[in-house]
Amino acid sequence: MPLEYKTEQQKKAFYNSGAWKKLRLDALERDNYECQHCKADGKVTVDSVKEEGKRKEIVLNVDHKYPIEFYPKLALVLDNLQTLCINHHNIKEGRTMDKIRPKSKKKKWDDEWW
Ligand SMILES: [Zn+2]
Repeated sequence: MPLEYKTEQQKKAFYNSGAWKKLRLDALERDNYECQHCKADGKVTVDSVKEEGKRKEIVLNVDHKYPIEFYPKLALVLDNLQTLCINHHNIKEGRTMDKIRPKSKKKKWDDEWW
């Protein structure tokens, strides 16, 4: 396995690896299958239960505190993992994205004045 996860392909390969799948479960177990950020807020957010006839909604993610893109050596370090709900995960990713990507162009306001 290359010690680099820069491209989508490299990341995909990593997330499909047996080593990651196993470690991911270790992290979930350690975190009691709860979102760690919600927990810090005094809330309990756990994975939804699969409902009959419905697709299982994925609520919990195992997140790398230090992204593997920049810290490939921490990709398989349990201490670098945290269980987050989809909301908190998006917030975290959103923040990171803001730093990496310039803000999208503002919409031009070309409505006419009435
Ligand atoms: Zn949460």
